Amino acid sequence: MAPRLWSRWSFPAGRCQDPPNKHVWPPPLACWAGLSGGGVLKLKLLRRARRVRPRAPIGWCAGPSMGRGRFHLKTLGQERSLSAFGVQAGAAALLLLLPATMFHLLLAARSGPARLLGPPAYLPGLEALWSPRALLLWLAWLGLQAALYLLPARKVAEGQELKDESRLRYPINGFQALVLTALLVGLGMSAGLPLGALPEMLLPLAFVATLTAFIFSLFLYMKAQVAPVSALAPGGNSGNPIYDFFLGRELNPRICFFDFKYFCELRPGLIGWVLINMALLMKEAELRGSPSLAMWLVNGFQLLYVGDALWHEEAILTTMDITHDGFGFMLAFGDIAWVPFTYSLQAQFLLHHPQSLGLPMASVICLINAIGYYIFRGANSQKNTFRKNPSDPRVAGLETISTATGRKLLVSGWWGMVRHPNYLGDLIMALAWSLPCGVSHLLPYFYLLYFTALLVHREARDERQCLQKYGLAWQEYCRRVPYRIMPYIY
Ligand code: NDP
Repeated sequence: MAPRLWSRWSFPAGRCQDPPNKHVWPPPLACWAGLSGGGVLKLKLLRRARRVRPRAPIGWCAGPSMGRGRFHLKTLGQERSLSAFGVQAGAAALLLLLPATMFHLLLAARSGPARLLGPPAYLPGLEALWSPRALLLWLAWLGLQAALYLLPARKVAEGQELKDESRLRYPINGFQALVLTALLVGLGMSAGLPLGALPEMLLPLAFVATLTAFIFSLFLYMKAQVAPVSALAPGGNSGNPIYDFFLGRELNPRICFFDFKYFCELRPGLIGWVLINMALLMKEAELRGSPSLAMWLVNGFQLLYVGDALWHEEAILTTMDITHDGFGFMLAFGDIAWVPFTYSLQAQFLLHHPQSLGLPMASVICLINAIGYYIFRGANSQKNTFRKNPSDPRVAGLETISTATGRKLLVSGWWGMVRHPNYLGDLIMALAWSLPCGVSHLLPYFYLLYFTALLVHREARDERQCLQKYGLAWQEYCRRVPYRIMPYIY
């Protein structure tokens, strides 16, 4: 599953335009504002003057507004007022903070002390960041992935119904893109392509990826100006340019069949992540004669994760990212820059800080990853099977709760253990990815810490949406399955 970087800021626009259909009026105000990832601020912005009907559907709010007035900010349950200026300043700060965090991690991983907290060991000059070669390589990479996206797919899937009652079609060929990329890279290496040189270019590559994310987000923002109201996302249309640029205005920006968000969510970043990992492994082999066991484990675990996400590509069509969130800087930067350059942090760390790992410890770590994967895949597959066909023999015997929408909720099996068993499995795997790096540094555990914050916030956001959708049935589910992610703990 493509990573969602940080939780969303979203606030109601002041004056909503005419609703595209009857289901979206009155306009929704239960939009989220939040930042997780770096921090764990949970912000809920509610327009003070507006009254919300209970369980108002999430709908369209497009209109100028937020320059005037103040917003209510809910931080950890406490509501306080926040000026529109504060919201703009927050979005602007994130535009700088997120790339800065990524560069901090890249620099820290290659420095001797490898400190997660504290200033970086050195600040690179522009000559270390800017490289025309890196720019060419990056553009070639995006071009290759775009070409693979356009190849005939084994299947074309339909997305969820949109507000105008249409459905978009998506090619299911992400796994094919992974395999073809592996073949092309293999061919290139046999022809002398120096993959081990890639780690030297990580800084300039991350720099051009960041530049691309900014330029691309600007394009998306401009494109949304001419998009019909029905194509806009529930959030990200406040009328404030910085905020909307950050959050993303259009739900599914496309040119013909090419869906930008769907493409970015799973292709250049995820496949780029495993390619960077592999390059780090090759570099380690060049430096030390052979890759370390720790490097093999990190590569293997993360390849499994990416392969799994691409194999089950269709599942992304029902996620919040595709069905709810606008496509702006937050997702664009997250997908194409943050994922490949920060998710490969453990392998980067291992290249510069080799760790000796014995077989017994390696076996324990493999077991932890296998348990995490088992829970993650079992839970995701069980829900997907159930949603596709509740009478499927694999799920037909599970206990369910009926809801007013006609859909049912599972209350036994994985989804009877905790309310988000898939997040639990994901977090266990995240731990297994960090353990090969030893316990001498906090840096390789960044992913685990960041991911915990992200999933805790994501879970809260999903709960709110489910409560809105299912009402009393969801309350009953919460009563019967009291823990959210970790049994008896959370
Ligand atoms: P989930 O797959 O957890 O789906 C949540 C939805 O499932 C709910 O909105 C509801 O939708 C349905 N649901 C909830 N409870 C039940 C139940 N008891 N019975 C039946 N349906 C239920 O959403 P995500 O998109 O957050 O996560 C997908 C995967 O992606 C996860 O495994 C997660 O760990 C992973 N992920 C990875 C990230 C990364 O950066 N690596 C980032 C974020 C997620 P409805 O009822 O409408 O079907």
